[in-house]
Amino acid sequence: MTNEVNPFESLQEQIDDAAVFLDIAPDRIERLKRPERVLETNLSVEMDDGSIEVFEAFRSQFNGDRGPYKGGIRYHPGVTRDEVKALSGWMVYKCAVVDIPYGGGKGGIVLDPRDYSASELERITRSYATELRPLIGPDRDIPAPDVNTGQQEMNWIKDTYETLERTTAPGTVTGKSPTSSGSAGRVEATGRSVMLTAREAFEYFDRDIADATVAVQGYGNAGSVAARLIDDLGADVVAVSDSGGAVYNADGLDTEAAKAHKVSTGSLSGFEGASEELRNDEMLTMDVDLLVPAALENAIDGTLARDVRADIVVEAANGPLTPDADDVLTERDVAVFPDVLANAGGVTVSYFEWVQNRQRFAWTEQRVNDRLERVITDAFDTMTDTYERRDLPNLRTAAYVVAIDRVATAADEAGVFP
Ligand code: NAD
Repeated sequence: MTNEVNPFESLQEQIDDAAVFLDIAPDRIERLKRPERVLETNLSVEMDDGSIEVFEAFRSQFNGDRGPYKGGIRYHPGVTRDEVKALSGWMVYKCAVVDIPYGGGKGGIVLDPRDYSASELERITRSYATELRPLIGPDRDIPAPDVNTGQQEMNWIKDTYETLERTTAPGTVTGKSPTSSGSAGRVEATGRSVMLTAREAFEYFDRDIADATVAVQGYGNAGSVAARLIDDLGADVVAVSDSGGAVYNADGLDTEAAKAHKVSTGSLSGFEGASEELRNDEMLTMDVDLLVPAALENAIDGTLARDVRADIVVEAANGPLTPDADDVLTERDVAVFPDVLANAGGVTVSYFEWVQNRQRFAWTEQRVNDRLERVITDAFDTMTDTYERRDLPNLRTAAYVVAIDRVATAADEAGVFP
């Protein structure tokens, strides 16, 4: 993974690339390239042995012109202020691509959760939620899970907020467990939109996904669900990887068994259904029809992109290609279906969860999945129509043209205060 590329600069470059195709004044675009505010805080938390540890933590609220700030919370040692700013910006444009009434936000704490006990993680999360309290709420800013956070952390944030505010406000955070006002279908939603995007992508090129070979980088929430649902369409998922390396089988892997192996051993390594183990970079350049990067940002840089042999890439992770890699793949005619559409299932079902919380009425999983399918396929069609009609260089630019136009219009309609 290349870490030299600053993801915030990548985001700004993506916006600039799309802005040249829009009739928007440069000062207006400048406003859409920076966060409105960033909270930077240091959490002092008591450890199980009585010592105090200090954790750096952030929350970026990028743009609220289309609705409350919305975006996940990441626990990772590599979290930085600029990473959080970039991720919050991608949320703005993702919500606009799928046309749900949210702005964008993102948060993170610099830590490796594997180093802490469950009770330490609870205290860290509650301390963070206490810092966030004045900024968040169902009409202000609505956090959700991201890398290394899930239902448990969201349940703790909801409880901390509700206890301090002396109210019930389940719509303060999404991605909660269904028994704590979460939505059916939320855990699978990101992988499901990746699958729907891949299915539509093959249809767009008049190809049958059932004949495709597939490699998936990253086997967490997004990657493992995407792999299983793409497998269900009849494709052969021949390689999957996690931070420990990749496993391969030319006849196709049993994606559920691979997941079970990872859950029980903590790693894909040693999976008996594999015929070979590969390095991560070998997997990214394998001869497959579809490559799904589902780990972290900057997984593929310009050099590696020259060796990518898949002709369709569907981005499950946020920002997995550096801008250089994007340029190389565009030049090589590799079709990249961008993150802001492909992984938007997570935030879309988060929106459904928030709607259910506000209505105090739970939807069935079927209803959630049907509505998600409609949102993703509509957004896919708008993106590909825009790509063709405006003769744009690639699909990411098309997605940003759609999104920036929507955000800029809302910003213009709001005007400037004071
Ligand atoms: P996760 O923590 O569940 O999984 C991450 C996976 O990536 C793990 O399997 C990890 O081992 C693997 N990984 C890390 N470094 C790797 C490397 N160098 N090579 C190969 N694998 C590596 O996280 P997640 O929730 O699945 O998120 C993954 C990506 O999807 C992130 O970019 C996240 O922002 C994005 N995303 C997630 C959601 C969601 O709802 N979970 C929604 C939208 C976007």
